[in-house]
Amino acid sequence: MGDMLDRELYGGIEAGGTKFICALASQPPHLDYEVTFQTSDPVETLSRVQAFFQPFIDEGRVKSIGIAAFGPVDVDPSSLTYGYITATPKLAWVNTNILGKLHQSLGVPLAFHADVSGSAIGEHTWGAARGIDPSLYLTIGTGIGGSFLLHGEPHVGMTALETGHIRIPHNLSIDPFEGACPYHKDCFEGLAAGPALAARFGARGELLADEDPFWQIEAEYIAYALVNYILILSPRIIVLGGGIMQRSFLFDIIRRRVRELLNGYIQAEKILEDIEHYIVPPALGRYSGVLGAIAMAQRLD
Ligand code: ZN
Repeated sequence: MGDMLDRELYGGIEAGGTKFICALASQPPHLDYEVTFQTSDPVETLSRVQAFFQPFIDEGRVKSIGIAAFGPVDVDPSSLTYGYITATPKLAWVNTNILGKLHQSLGVPLAFHADVSGSAIGEHTWGAARGIDPSLYLTIGTGIGGSFLLHGEPHVGMTALETGHIRIPHNLSIDPFEGACPYHKDCFEGLAAGPALAARFGARGELLADEDPFWQIEAEYIAYALVNYILILSPRIIVLGGGIMQRSFLFDIIRRRVRELLNGYIQAEKILEDIEHYIVPPALGRYSGVLGAIAMAQRLD
């Protein structure tokens, strides 16, 4: 027990739009302590974060903490608003300096990335993409986001990647829905994310039967997007997470269509013969993000 109490801990915060997961680990991916709570306004939510970590910080055991935050977030360290949640539809969080506030209250070294990059790093460090480089992680749920890791680091350019807002073919005679993206209407996210399903089917969207013909259309959109990412980024593995990908039957349809759409142009064994190990579900379940945040904290050493 004394040994356990003395161990140094790395912290992780998955700061999600609907829930926060905070955890501490001395030997990740095993978690020593964890808590999950609903996201409310910044003051209440961040005080719950502090309440979880403070006793361990007071004991001097916390080396560093990683934060994987919902966004959009500013992840450019040279920017004046680095560490901010910026133009989020969650109005109480617009322009919240989450990194600065947590730095002030916790006082330990902090690492910061978008939530999807946290999941990507978690899966790359301990999960489905372990040791595979480069890797692409996508979440397909209430929104669509992605993170491309090269040598384990998320690609950040002028902005973070906006994998959800690419254009994909939209056949109006098969799918007459105009699209739900407030900026682009029928971009990938506008056609295939949760709000697009809700707009087409109402409350029924989430409950749509596995046999519903719509899922063929959904899988087609995802396959189109993946083909574009494959051609541009050439990842060696693609991990598909998020609520919609809980429909695990989608994987086989997507894999088949990706291969058909590429049509033999990319002569990679992973795509031609081993595609079930190329387009895969996450291995860490609900812990991808918080474990990725812990891996980010470890990288500060
Ligand atoms: Zn869009």
